[in-house]
Amino acid sequence: MTNTDSAIIEKINKLKKEKNAIIVAHYYQLGETQDIADFVGDALGMTRFAADSDAEVIIVGGVTCMAETIKLACPEKTVILPDLNAGCTLSNMISLKRLPTRKEQYPNATVVCYINTTPEVKTEVDICYSEDEAVDIVKELPADQEIMFIPDQYMGDFVATRTGRELILWPGYCSPIVKIRAEDVKARKEEHPDAKVVAHIECIPQVKLLADLVTSTNGMVQFAEETDAKEIIVATEVGIIHYLQKENPDKTFIAASELGECATMKLVNLETILWSLENMNPVIEIPEDIRVKAKPVVDAMLARTGG
Ligand code: SF4
Repeated sequence: MTNTDSAIIEKINKLKKEKNAIIVAHYYQLGETQDIADFVGDALGMTRFAADSDAEVIIVGGVTCMAETIKLACPEKTVILPDLNAGCTLSNMISLKRLPTRKEQYPNATVVCYINTTPEVKTEVDICYSEDEAVDIVKELPADQEIMFIPDQYMGDFVATRTGRELILWPGYCSPIVKIRAEDVKARKEEHPDAKVVAHIECIPQVKLLADLVTSTNGMVQFAEETDAKEIIVATEVGIIHYLQKENPDKTFIAASELGECATMKLVNLETILWSLENMNPVIEIPEDIRVKAKPVVDAMLARTGG
Protein backbone atom coordinates (compact mmCIF):
# COMPACT_ATOMS: atom_id res chain seq x y z
CA MET A 1 0.00 0.00 0.00
CA THR A 2 1.36 3.44 -0.91
CA ASN A 3 1.42 6.50 1.42
CA THR A 4 -1.24 8.05 -0.81
CA ASP A 5 -3.51 5.02 -0.31
CA SER A 6 -3.02 5.20 3.47
CA ALA A 7 -3.90 8.90 3.45
CA ILE A 8 -7.03 8.24 1.36
CA ILE A 9 -8.13 5.38 3.63
CA GLU A 10 -7.68 7.59 6.69
CA LYS A 11 -9.88 10.27 5.12
CA ILE A 12 -12.50 7.68 4.06
CA ASN A 13 -12.70 6.24 7.58
CA LYS A 14 -13.04 9.73 9.11
CA LEU A 15 -15.83 10.68 6.68
CA LYS A 16 -17.63 7.36 7.23
CA LYS A 17 -17.86 8.15 10.95
CA GLU A 18 -18.92 11.76 10.40
CA LYS A 19 -21.65 10.82 7.92
CA ASN A 20 -22.76 7.55 9.54
CA ALA A 21 -21.83 5.71 6.35
CA ILE A 22 -20.87 2.13 5.56
CA ILE A 23 -19.31 0.53 2.48
CA VAL A 24 -20.71 -2.70 1.05
CA ALA A 25 -18.63 -4.37 -1.65
CA HIS A 26 -19.16 -7.22 -4.08
CA TYR A 27 -16.78 -10.20 -4.18
CA TYR A 28 -15.74 -9.02 -7.66
CA GLN A 29 -14.57 -5.60 -6.47
CA LEU A 30 -10.96 -4.42 -6.52
CA GLY A 31 -8.98 -5.73 -3.54
CA GLU A 32 -8.47 -2.17 -2.26
CA THR A 33 -12.25 -1.64 -2.10
CA GLN A 34 -12.89 -5.03 -0.49
CA ASP A 35 -10.26 -4.26 2.16
CA ILE A 36 -11.95 -1.07 3.37
CA ALA A 37 -15.52 -2.40 3.12
CA ASP A 38 -17.73 -3.12 6.12
CA PHE A 39 -19.16 -6.07 4.22
CA VAL A 40 -18.03 -8.14 1.21
CA GLY A 41 -20.42 -10.58 -0.43
CA ASP A 42 -22.88 -11.20 -3.26
CA ALA A 43 -25.62 -8.79 -4.37
CA LEU A 44 -28.16 -10.24 -1.94
CA GLY A 45 -25.71 -10.16 0.97
CA MET A 46 -24.85 -6.54 0.21
CA THR A 47 -28.54 -5.64 0.12
CA ARG A 48 -29.33 -7.41 3.38
CA PHE A 49 -26.32 -5.92 5.18
CA ALA A 50 -27.27 -2.42 4.03
CA ALA A 51 -30.94 -2.85 4.97
CA ASP A 52 -30.13 -4.25 8.43
CA SER A 53 -27.50 -1.62 9.20
CA ASP A 54 -28.07 1.50 11.31
CA ALA A 55 -26.06 3.54 8.81
CA GLU A 56 -27.81 6.42 7.07
CA VAL A 57 -25.50 6.35 4.07
CA ILE A 58 -24.60 3.28 2.01
CA ILE A 59 -21.59 3.47 -0.31
CA VAL A 60 -21.92 0.69 -2.87
CA GLY A 61 -18.83 -1.08 -4.17
CA GLY A 62 -20.72 -2.66 -7.02
CA VAL A 63 -22.65 -1.75 -10.16
CA THR A 64 -25.80 0.27 -10.85
CA CYS A 65 -28.33 -2.58 -10.57
CA MET A 66 -26.83 -3.61 -7.18
CA ALA A 67 -27.08 -0.05 -5.87
CA GLU A 68 -30.66 0.19 -7.17
CA THR A 69 -31.65 -3.06 -5.44
CA ILE A 70 -30.23 -1.68 -2.19
CA LYS A 71 -32.19 1.53 -2.68
CA LEU A 72 -35.38 -0.51 -3.25
CA ALA A 73 -34.75 -2.45 -0.04
CA CYS A 74 -34.01 0.63 2.09
CA PRO A 75 -35.50 3.72 0.43
CA GLU A 76 -35.01 5.81 3.58
CA LYS A 77 -31.19 5.57 3.30
CA THR A 78 -28.92 7.61 1.06
CA VAL A 79 -27.44 5.11 -1.40
CA ILE A 80 -24.35 6.24 -3.29
CA LEU A 81 -22.62 4.52 -6.20
CA PRO A 82 -19.23 6.26 -6.51
CA ASP A 83 -19.23 6.03 -10.33
CA LEU A 84 -22.51 5.84 -12.25
CA ASN A 85 -20.64 4.41 -15.25
CA ALA A 86 -20.32 1.18 -13.26
CA GLY A 87 -23.00 -0.68 -15.21
CA CYS A 88 -23.74 -4.38 -15.57
CA THR A 89 -23.75 -5.85 -19.07
CA LEU A 90 -26.04 -8.68 -17.97
CA SER A 91 -28.70 -6.34 -16.59
CA ASN A 92 -28.38 -4.17 -19.71
CA MET A 93 -29.31 -7.18 -21.86
CA ILE A 94 -32.92 -7.07 -20.74
CA SER A 95 -35.09 -4.00 -21.15
CA LEU A 96 -38.68 -2.98 -20.61
CA LYS A 97 -38.96 -2.55 -24.36
CA ARG A 98 -38.46 -6.25 -25.03
CA LEU A 99 -39.77 -7.97 -21.88
CA PRO A 100 -43.51 -7.21 -22.37
CA THR A 101 -43.36 -8.57 -25.93
CA ARG A 102 -41.79 -11.79 -24.67
CA LYS A 103 -44.41 -12.00 -21.90
CA GLU A 104 -47.19 -11.66 -24.50
CA GLN A 105 -45.80 -14.75 -26.21
CA TYR A 106 -46.05 -16.71 -22.95
CA PRO A 107 -49.01 -15.16 -21.09
CA ASN A 108 -49.22 -17.99 -18.52
CA ALA A 109 -45.54 -18.05 -17.63
CA THR A 110 -44.29 -17.09 -14.18
CA VAL A 111 -41.39 -14.68 -14.69
CA VAL A 112 -38.47 -15.32 -12.36
CA CYS A 113 -35.81 -12.65 -12.48
CA TYR A 114 -32.22 -12.44 -11.25
CA ILE A 115 -31.38 -9.83 -8.61
CA ASN A 116 -28.97 -8.19 -11.10
CA THR A 117 -31.62 -6.43 -13.18
CA THR A 118 -32.94 -2.87 -13.23
CA PRO A 119 -35.85 -1.66 -11.06
CA GLU A 120 -37.85 -1.13 -14.29
CA VAL A 121 -37.52 -4.81 -15.20
CA LYS A 122 -38.40 -5.82 -11.63
CA THR A 123 -41.77 -4.06 -12.03
CA GLU A 124 -42.72 -6.67 -14.66
CA VAL A 125 -41.74 -9.89 -12.89
CA ASP A 126 -43.31 -12.30 -10.41
CA ILE A 127 -40.25 -13.43 -8.42
CA CYS A 128 -36.77 -11.98 -7.87
CA TYR A 129 -34.04 -14.50 -6.95
CA SER A 130 -30.42 -14.41 -5.85
CA GLU A 131 -27.74 -16.70 -7.32
CA ASP A 132 -27.88 -19.05 -4.31
CA GLU A 133 -31.58 -19.63 -4.90
CA ALA A 134 -31.54 -20.12 -8.68
CA VAL A 135 -32.16 -23.88 -8.59
CA ASP A 136 -34.51 -24.02 -5.59
CA ILE A 137 -36.76 -21.21 -6.77
CA VAL A 138 -37.57 -23.21 -9.91
CA LYS A 139 -37.87 -26.52 -8.03
CA GLU A 140 -40.47 -25.03 -5.72
CA LEU A 141 -42.82 -23.88 -8.48
CA PRO A 142 -45.62 -26.32 -9.45
CA ALA A 143 -44.46 -28.93 -11.98
CA ASP A 144 -47.00 -27.81 -14.61
CA GLN A 145 -46.14 -24.10 -14.24
CA GLU A 146 -44.57 -22.48 -17.31
CA ILE A 147 -41.48 -20.51 -16.21
CA MET A 148 -39.68 -17.66 -17.93
CA PHE A 149 -36.18 -17.52 -16.40
CA ILE A 150 -34.39 -14.20 -16.97
CA PRO A 151 -31.91 -12.90 -17.98
CA ASP A 152 -28.85 -15.24 -17.98
CA GLN A 153 -29.21 -18.06 -20.51
CA TYR A 154 -26.29 -20.06 -19.12
CA MET A 155 -27.56 -19.91 -15.56
CA GLY A 156 -30.98 -20.83 -16.93
CA ASP A 157 -29.57 -23.76 -18.89
CA PHE A 158 -27.85 -25.03 -15.73
CA VAL A 159 -31.04 -24.66 -13.65
CA ALA A 160 -33.07 -26.47 -16.34
CA THR A 161 -30.60 -29.38 -16.25
CA ARG A 162 -30.53 -29.55 -12.45
CA THR A 163 -34.31 -29.40 -12.07
CA GLY A 164 -35.34 -31.35 -15.18
CA ARG A 165 -37.66 -28.45 -16.05
CA GLU A 166 -38.09 -26.81 -19.42
CA LEU A 167 -37.49 -23.09 -18.99
CA ILE A 168 -38.19 -20.19 -21.31
CA LEU A 169 -34.79 -18.53 -21.42
CA TRP A 170 -33.63 -15.02 -22.28
CA PRO A 171 -30.52 -14.63 -24.48
CA GLY A 172 -28.54 -12.69 -21.84
CA TYR A 173 -25.14 -13.45 -20.37
CA CYS A 174 -22.48 -11.96 -18.11
CA SER A 175 -19.88 -10.73 -20.60
CA PRO A 176 -16.80 -11.12 -18.34
CA ILE A 177 -17.74 -14.64 -17.27
CA VAL A 178 -18.45 -15.93 -20.80
CA LYS A 179 -14.94 -14.84 -21.78
CA ILE A 180 -13.69 -17.80 -19.74
CA ARG A 181 -13.35 -20.66 -22.24
CA ALA A 182 -12.89 -24.42 -21.83
CA GLU A 183 -9.36 -24.11 -23.31
CA ASP A 184 -8.41 -21.75 -20.46
CA VAL A 185 -9.55 -24.24 -17.83
CA LYS A 186 -7.72 -27.09 -19.61
CA ALA A 187 -4.53 -25.01 -19.75
CA ARG A 188 -4.72 -24.16 -16.03
CA LYS A 189 -5.34 -27.86 -15.27
CA GLU A 190 -2.19 -28.80 -17.19
CA GLU A 191 -0.22 -26.24 -15.17
CA HIS A 192 -1.80 -27.39 -11.88
CA PRO A 193 -2.74 -31.07 -12.30
CA ASP A 194 -3.75 -31.53 -8.64
CA ALA A 195 -6.01 -28.50 -8.55
CA LYS A 196 -9.78 -28.72 -8.16
CA VAL A 197 -11.92 -26.61 -10.52
CA VAL A 198 -14.86 -24.56 -9.33
CA ALA A 199 -17.06 -22.78 -11.90
CA HIS A 200 -19.78 -20.18 -11.54
CA ILE A 201 -23.34 -20.94 -12.67
CA GLU A 202 -23.05 -18.14 -15.26
CA CYS A 203 -20.17 -19.91 -17.06
CA ILE A 204 -20.73 -21.43 -20.48
CA PRO A 205 -21.65 -25.17 -20.44
CA GLN A 206 -18.25 -26.28 -21.86
CA VAL A 207 -16.52 -24.74 -18.81
CA LYS A 208 -19.06 -26.22 -16.38
CA LEU A 209 -18.35 -29.69 -17.80
CA LEU A 210 -14.72 -29.40 -16.65
CA ALA A 211 -15.57 -28.32 -13.11
CA ASP A 212 -15.55 -30.36 -9.91
CA LEU A 213 -18.25 -28.02 -8.62
CA VAL A 214 -20.63 -25.58 -10.32
CA THR A 215 -22.00 -23.09 -7.85
CA SER A 216 -22.69 -19.49 -6.81
CA THR A 217 -20.11 -17.05 -5.42
CA ASN A 218 -21.14 -17.95 -1.84
CA GLY A 219 -20.85 -21.61 -2.86
CA MET A 220 -17.29 -20.93 -4.04
CA VAL A 221 -16.42 -19.30 -0.72
CA GLN A 222 -17.76 -22.34 1.15
CA PHE A 223 -15.97 -24.78 -1.18
CA ALA A 224 -12.69 -22.89 -0.70
CA GLU A 225 -12.95 -23.28 3.06
CA GLU A 226 -13.98 -26.93 3.06
CA THR A 227 -11.95 -28.55 0.28
CA ASP A 228 -8.78 -30.50 1.08
CA ALA A 229 -7.29 -29.33 -2.23
CA LYS A 230 -4.34 -26.96 -1.88
CA GLU A 231 -4.81 -25.43 -5.33
CA ILE A 232 -8.16 -24.30 -6.71
CA ILE A 233 -8.84 -23.07 -10.24
CA VAL A 234 -11.63 -20.52 -10.13
CA ALA A 235 -13.82 -19.89 -13.19
CA THR A 236 -15.62 -16.65 -12.47
CA GLU A 237 -14.89 -12.92 -12.35
CA VAL A 238 -11.27 -12.50 -11.20
CA GLY A 239 -12.00 -10.16 -8.27
CA ILE A 240 -13.10 -13.05 -6.08
CA ILE A 241 -9.54 -14.41 -6.04
CA HIS A 242 -8.55 -11.58 -3.65
CA TYR A 243 -11.31 -12.56 -1.22
CA LEU A 244 -10.63 -16.31 -1.41
CA GLN A 245 -6.88 -15.87 -0.99
CA LYS A 246 -7.30 -13.56 1.98
CA GLU A 247 -9.71 -15.94 3.72
CA ASN A 248 -7.64 -19.06 2.95
CA PRO A 249 -3.95 -18.08 3.05
CA ASP A 250 -2.80 -21.74 3.17
CA LYS A 251 -4.35 -22.47 -0.27
CA THR A 252 -3.62 -21.12 -3.74
CA PHE A 253 -6.37 -19.76 -5.96
CA ILE A 254 -5.80 -19.54 -9.70
CA ALA A 255 -8.03 -17.52 -12.04
CA ALA A 256 -9.18 -19.71 -14.95
CA SER A 257 -8.76 -16.67 -17.21
CA GLU A 258 -7.61 -13.11 -16.55
CA LEU A 259 -10.08 -12.06 -19.27
CA GLY A 260 -12.91 -12.74 -16.84
CA GLU A 261 -12.82 -9.21 -15.49
CA CYS A 262 -15.82 -6.91 -14.99
CA ALA A 263 -14.18 -3.62 -15.95
CA THR A 264 -17.15 -1.48 -14.92
CA MET A 265 -17.22 -2.97 -11.42
CA LYS A 266 -13.62 -1.79 -11.04
CA LEU A 267 -14.60 1.85 -11.54
CA VAL A 268 -15.30 1.98 -7.82
CA ASN A 269 -11.93 2.48 -6.17
CA LEU A 270 -10.36 4.36 -3.25
CA GLU A 271 -10.37 7.69 -5.11
CA THR A 272 -13.99 7.49 -6.29
CA ILE A 273 -15.15 6.36 -2.84
CA LEU A 274 -13.39 9.29 -1.18
CA TRP A 275 -14.81 11.74 -3.73
CA SER A 276 -18.32 10.38 -3.24
CA LEU A 277 -18.11 10.65 0.55
CA GLU A 278 -16.81 14.21 0.33
CA ASN A 279 -19.55 15.25 -2.07
CA MET A 280 -22.34 12.83 -1.01
CA ASN A 281 -22.82 12.03 -4.65
CA PRO A 282 -23.81 10.34 -7.03
CA VAL A 283 -26.98 9.43 -5.18
CA ILE A 284 -29.22 6.64 -6.48
CA GLU A 285 -32.81 7.78 -7.04
CA ILE A 286 -35.67 5.61 -8.27
CA PRO A 287 -38.88 7.24 -9.58
CA GLU A 288 -41.74 6.67 -7.14
CA ASP A 289 -44.03 4.80 -9.59
CA ILE A 290 -41.22 2.32 -10.36
CA ARG A 291 -40.15 2.00 -6.72
CA VAL A 292 -43.68 1.09 -5.62
CA LYS A 293 -44.01 -1.65 -8.25
CA ALA A 294 -40.46 -3.04 -7.99
CA LYS A 295 -40.02 -3.11 -4.19
CA PRO A 296 -42.36 -6.05 -3.37
CA VAL A 297 -40.28 -8.64 -5.26
CA VAL A 298 -37.10 -7.45 -3.53
CA ASP A 299 -38.77 -7.49 -0.10
CA ALA A 300 -40.13 -10.98 -0.81
CA MET A 301 -36.63 -12.20 -1.75
CA LEU A 302 -35.19 -10.79 1.50
CA ALA A 303 -37.99 -12.35 3.57
CA ARG A 304 -37.71 -15.72 1.82
CA THR A 305 -33.94 -15.88 2.28
CA GLY A 306 -33.98 -15.06 5.98
CA GLY A 307 -34.26 -11.28 6.19
S1 SF4 B 1 -19.67 -9.63 -13.34
FE1 SF4 B 1 -21.33 -9.89 -14.83
S2 SF4 B 1 -23.24 -9.95 -13.61
FE2 SF4 B 1 -21.59 -9.12 -12.28
S3 SF4 B 1 -21.76 -6.89 -12.55
FE3 SF4 B 1 -20.23 -7.55 -14.03
S4 SF4 B 1 -21.43 -7.92 -15.92
FE4 SF4 B 1 -22.90 -7.80 -14.23
